[in-house]
Amino acid sequence: AAKEEGRARVAAYHPRMRRDAMSKLSVEAELRTAIRDDQLDVYYQPIVDLPTRRIIAFEALVRWHHPSRGLLQPDEFIGVAEDSNLIVPLGAHVIHQACAFIAEHPEFNGRVLVNVSTKQIGAADLTRVVRSALSESGIDPSRLGLEITETGMLMASHAAKSDLEALTALGIDLVVDDFGTGYSALSSILLNPVSGLKLAREFTLRLGDRSTGDRISLAMATLTLSLDMYGVIEGIETEAQYSVARRHGWTYGQGYLFGHPTPAHEIIFSPDGSAQVPSGERSAALAAGHP
Ligand code: C2E
Ligand code: MG
Ligand code: MG
Ligand code: MG
Repeated sequence: AAKEEGRARVAAYHPRMRRDAMSKLSVEAELRTAIRDDQLDVYYQPIVDLPTRRIIAFEALVRWHHPSRGLLQPDEFIGVAEDSNLIVPLGAHVIHQACAFIAEHPEFNGRVLVNVSTKQIGAADLTRVVRSALSESGIDPSRLGLEITETGMLMASHAAKSDLEALTALGIDLVVDDFGTGYSALSSILLNPVSGLKLAREFTLRLGDRSTGDRISLAMATLTLSLDMYGVIEGIETEAQYSVARRHGWTYGQGYLFGHPTPAHEIIFSPDGSAQVPSGERSAALAAGHP
């Protein structure tokens, strides 16, 4: 009976497994078209100086205007892009867009941080991509930062390591993304020329619990300062989290409290060098993918 049950279960699983495999293939095919036909867009989320809440940088976050499915979030396609190596042309596109965004707003003197996957480094020659985006846009290399997860930094091959060194030699900041959630967080700092850390949202969610979450945040803020790096605390959604983060000594913050990922044309730049993003429901709806 157990054997039959097992067989029945296998049979029942089959169609779904096949559907998943097919949808992955079709996502891959559609993504190829999307890159070619310019269906990808880059949204920008503010990173603020915590004491003043002034925007000092933006994180570039890719979106996909799918012809029939509407606005797609990265979680729906970055995995497929990585598995199929389409992340290489996709990533190059985002780097070019982000540099152009900075070049188009000379009044803004902040930076833009772009996410990169391990697959873009080393073999795919990230340095060449970055050099070409810098020369095309004419921006100073110090205006660009690259976010890499700590796991990504550790998985970096030998070729990748020299890529990362070449990038920092150009004057580009390397920032550890989602700090605290990967393997051996500290060796990613030890082994790579890192200039900043972003504390993962997982920890921010636990701020104010007067226990482990708080202690980790405080310890990481202190670590960042003593290593002479800059620290960004991610996922700040409430005033309560904001004040704990400030108390712990975080320099910069990012999260819905300060602004959602926003299309470039909705960001307001002022002649004094400041930037503002619209707040409230419209922005929240856009971030959730319901324009
Ligand atoms: P990430 O790099 O850690 O980016 C932060 C994510 O957290 C973004 O999700 C952002 O919208 C979201 N977020 C920011 N503040 C808050 C908040 O206060 N609360 C909550 N709940 N979420 C917040 P998004 O845009 O969906 O991107 C997800 C992930 O996809 C990114 O995580 C990054 O790993 C990846 N990704 C996005 N764009 C690119 C890209 O151009 N290239 C690569 N390789 N990966 C990308
Ligand atoms: Mg990031
Ligand atoms: Mg992050
Ligand atoms: Mg992430």
